[in-house]
Amino acid sequence: MTGVPLRLYNSLSRQIEAFVPIDPANVRLYSCGPTVYNYAHIGNLRAYVFTDTLSRVLTWKGYPLTHVINITDVGHLTSDADAGDDKMEAAARAQAKSIWDVAAHYTEAFKQNIADLNIRAPSRWSVATDHIDDMIAFATQIAPAHCYELDSGLYFDVTTVPNYGALAGGQDDAAAGRIEAVEGKRHPQDFAIWRKSGTHENRQMEWESPWGRGAPGWHLECSVMSKKYLGDQFDIHTGGIDHREIHHPNEIAQNQAHCECAETGANWWMHNNFLVERSGKMSKSAGGFTTLKSLVDKGVHPLAYRLMCLSAHYRSELEFSGEGLAAALTRLKRLVMAVSTLRDRAAADAAAPSKGNAAPYFERLDEAVSDDLNTPKALPVLDEMLADKKLSPAVRLAALADFDAVLGLDLGRLTREDLRIAPAGATLTPQQIAGRLAERRDARAARDFARSDAVRDDLAAAGVEVMDGDPLGWDWKLAL
Ligand code: AMP
Ligand code: ZN
Repeated sequence: MTGVPLRLYNSLSRQIEAFVPIDPANVRLYSCGPTVYNYAHIGNLRAYVFTDTLSRVLTWKGYPLTHVINITDVGHLTSDADAGDDKMEAAARAQAKSIWDVAAHYTEAFKQNIADLNIRAPSRWSVATDHIDDMIAFATQIAPAHCYELDSGLYFDVTTVPNYGALAGGQDDAAAGRIEAVEGKRHPQDFAIWRKSGTHENRQMEWESPWGRGAPGWHLECSVMSKKYLGDQFDIHTGGIDHREIHHPNEIAQNQAHCECAETGANWWMHNNFLVERSGKMSKSAGGFTTLKSLVDKGVHPLAYRLMCLSAHYRSELEFSGEGLAAALTRLKRLVMAVSTLRDRAAADAAAPSKGNAAPYFERLDEAVSDDLNTPKALPVLDEMLADKKLSPAVRLAALADFDAVLGLDLGRLTREDLRIAPAGATLTPQQIAGRLAERRDARAARDFARSDAVRDDLAAAGVEVMDGDPLGWDWKLAL
C-alpha cells in the first residue's frame, strides 16, 4: 500500500491506531445495518455515509474489500434493555400488515436511500431471518458454558467471559434499567440469546428451537453473520455510537464465548457519532422524524445531505438544521458550477497541451482521509484543486475522479439540472420558471419595473425565490 499510512480510531483502545489489515489482499468489514420496521431517518443514514467513506478510503488506498451489512428483520426490541416488544412485530400489528411485507418494503426503501446518497452497495446484504438455523447452532454451542434458561428464554451470563463491557468504557448507566426488565436475570447486563414466545403472544415470526418456540435476541444475528461471512476475527466492525454501550459489548461477549478466547471478533470497532436535531435525539420509533425523502420533497438533492455529513468529522456530533443543509446545498452547487466551467473550458481548448501536476493534491487528500477519515479537511483540498489555474482544465477534471472515488460526491456526473429538484408542492416546472424569468428580464430591459416585480411576486408565491446578481449565476432557488 503506497501513500500515507492509514490511521483509524479504535473504540476498543479509545485511540487512533495505525491500520494493519489481517490480510491486505482482503480487508473484511462488517456494518450493523438498519432495523427495517420503518423508514431510515437521516441520522441512521449518517451511519452509512460513514461506512461508505471508510470503504471508499480503503478501496482507494488499494485494499480489496469484503463488506457485509446486515438487515435486521427480527429480534430488535423497542428497548435496548432487553424489554418491550419486537419492533418488527409491533410495526406489523400497527400497520395491520404481514411482517414480511413490512420488512420487504422498508428494506427496499433503505436500499433506495443508499443509492440516492451514492453509497456503494456492500459485497453482501445479509438478512437476519435467512440465518435462523445458523443462530440456533451458534447458541447451542455456547449455551452449556455461557447461558442459562428462564421461563422467558435463554440468557447470556456476562460473567462467563473476560472483561465484559470493556468496549463501553465502564459506563454502565443503562445497567440499572436492565435488571428489572426480566424476572430472574442473574446480572443486570445479562441479555437474551433466544426469546420464547409467551403463551398469550401471537408472533408472526417464530421458530422452533431447543429452548422452545420463539425468536432470536437481536445481538445474536451480528455475531453469527459476521463470523459466517468474514471469519472468526476480521478487520473492522462499525455502527453508531449507541451500539458501543450495549449491542457491540454483547456481540463481543458472544464472540468470546464462541471462540473460548479473549478475541473480540474484530480488530477495530468504529463508531460514528450522532446526527442531532435541536428538538432532541432523532428517533425512528417516536415518529415525525426527518427522512431523506422529506429533504428531497423540499427540493434538496440527496448529495447535499451527503456533503453535509462529510463537512463534519464522523466522530463529532453533527447538528442538523435547515440552514446547515441550505449551506451544504450552496456548497454543492458551487462545486457543480466549478466543474461545469472546467468542462466548458476543456472542450473549448481541447487541443491545448495538458499543464501541471495534480499529485500534490492527491497527497493532501491522502493525508486528510488517512488521518481517521478527516473529510472536513479533504473538502477544501478539492476546492483548491478545482480553482488552481496552474493546472489545465483537463488535468483538474482528471484529478476529480480521485476525489469522487473517495468522497462519493459524483461531481464527474452531476449537472446543474440534476440539482434543480422541484419540491413536492411545487406548482411550476423548471421550464415554466425559466419562461417567467425571461419575461421578467424583458420587462426590466423595457424598464417596466411594475411588471418585473409582479413576475417576481408570482414566482415567490410558487415558492421560487429570484436571486438577482447571485454570484453563482443560479438565477433562482426554491425556498426551503
Ligand atoms: P437502527 O435502524 O435503529 O438499527 O440503526 C441503524 C444505524 O443508525 C445504527 O448503526 C445506529 O447506531 C445508527 N444511528 C441511529 N440513530 C442515529 C443518529 N441520530 N445519528 C447517527 N447514527 C444513528
Ligand atoms: Zn449489529
